[in-house]
Amino acid sequence: MTGSSKPETIVLHAGYRADPATGSVAVPLYQTTSYQFRDTQHAADLFALKELGNIYTRLMNPTNDVLEQRITALEGGAAAVAVGSGQAASTFAVLNIAQAGDNIVSSTDLYGGTWNLFANTFKQMGIEVRFADPSDPENFRRLTDDKTRAYYAETLPNPKLHVFPIREVANIGDELGVPVIMDNTAAPVLCRPIDHGATIVIYSTTKFIAGHGTSVGGIVIDSGRFDWEKHAKRFPLLNEPDPSYHGAVWTQAVKPIGPVAYAIKLRCTLLRDVGAAASPFNSFQTIQGMETLPLRMERHCENSTKVADFLSSHPKVTKVIYPGKQDGESRRRADTYLKGGYGSLMGFELAGGKAAGEKFINSLGLFYHVANIGDTRSLAIHPATTTHSQLSEQDRISSGVTDGYVRLSIGIEHIDDILADLKQALDKA
Ligand SMILES: *Cc1c(COP(=O)(O)O)cnc(C)c1O
Repeated sequence: MTGSSKPETIVLHAGYRADPATGSVAVPLYQTTSYQFRDTQHAADLFALKELGNIYTRLMNPTNDVLEQRITALEGGAAAVAVGSGQAASTFAVLNIAQAGDNIVSSTDLYGGTWNLFANTFKQMGIEVRFADPSDPENFRRLTDDKTRAYYAETLPNPKLHVFPIREVANIGDELGVPVIMDNTAAPVLCRPIDHGATIVIYSTTKFIAGHGTSVGGIVIDSGRFDWEKHAKRFPLLNEPDPSYHGAVWTQAVKPIGPVAYAIKLRCTLLRDVGAAASPFNSFQTIQGMETLPLRMERHCENSTKVADFLSSHPKVTKVIYPGKQDGESRRRADTYLKGGYGSLMGFELAGGKAAGEKFINSLGLFYHVANIGDTRSLAIHPATTTHSQLSEQDRISSGVTDGYVRLSIGIEHIDDILADLKQALDKA
C-alpha cells in the first residue's frame, strides 16, 4: 500500500488508510482546532516532544498531517510541514536556518513574490540575499562565505524556463556545507529535487498540486539527508540551545524521532510563533486535487508539446520559449532534471510587440487571462503590461520579458479546443 514508490499510487494511499474513528475511505476534513489530552502525562509528553500528536491546529492538524505525509512520500523526503501559502513556505524555509547578519545565495531566476521577499523584506530583517546567475553553477561558490546558510533556486523558473542545475549546485553545497532549497512548484512529479541532492523542497501547492484554482497553500519538505551537526558552526539555530524551547538543541532533541531536526524545529518555532498555518479546508481540497496530479501532469505536458509545435510554425510567432524547444546546455539540463515531459509553462514572442500582445490576450475565448499557473484550465497573461509592468524597461527585458512576450500555462482541455482558441486569437494579433 503505502510502501509504493510510484507517484500514481502514493497520491492515493500514502499516509492514510480508512479513518480509524469512522472507516471513511476519503481523507476526512478535520475542521477542528484542539485535541483532548488523554491525561496530564500525555499532555506533558506532547509538549516535551517525547510523543508526537495533535495539540492545536496552528501546530498540526489531522488533515494537514495526511497532506504532509503524502507529499513527503512523493518527494522521497523524511518529513514535511504544511503552511498557509507558497510565500510562507519560502519564508520559513530560509528563516529556519538564517538570522540577522547571515546570508543566502539565490538564483536570479525567481518568482516575483520570492524576488520581493528576498530583495526587500529579508533585507529589512538583516538577512542578505546574494544573487547568482545559474548559467554558471560556480557563481554559487563565488558568493559563499562563512555566513552563507543556504542556496535557493526554482527547478523550472518563469519566464525564461531554463531548468536549474540542481546536482551541480548541490555538489558545491556538499563541499562547502551549504544546503540547497529548491522551489519545485512548476515541476511536481516531473522532478524530485531530493534525488538530485537538494536538502529542502518547497511548493506553492496553490498551483499544480491542488491544481484546480481553489486553494492557496504551501509546504516545506525536509529530505533528512543534510548533516547539520557536521556543520554545527554554520547552523547555530539547529545546534545551539534554543531559548524559546527550554534550551533544546534541535539536532539532539529530535534524534529519537529521526533525521528531521529541520522540519521539527520549523513546526515548533516558526509555525508556533509566526503562525502561517495551513487551513485544514485548503489541505482537504489539496489532497483531493493531488489524487490526480500524475495524470494531470501527463496531460499538461502532452498538450504543451503540441502547443509548442503549433506556435513554432506560426508566422506571427518569432520565438517559442519551452524547455522542449531549447538546445545546448539548457536542453541538457531540461532532459537531466525533468522526466516524462517539459511542464505546462510556455512563453512566446509576437512579431507585433506590445500592441499585438494586448490584442492577442483580449481575443482569447477559452484561455483565462489571469496571474496564475498550474490550473486545470488554460491560462494566459501579457507580463509587460501586468506582472512586470513595475520594472524598468531594462530590468524587464533582462528578466526575459520583452514587449511581445506572452506567457501561457497550458491546461488539460482537449487539445483541439486549445489550438483553435490560440489560432483565432493569433489571427487577430
Ligand atoms: C505562486 C508561486 C509562489 C508563491 O505561492 P503562493 O501560494 O501564491 O503564496 C512561489 N513560487 C512559485 C514558483 C510560484 O509560482
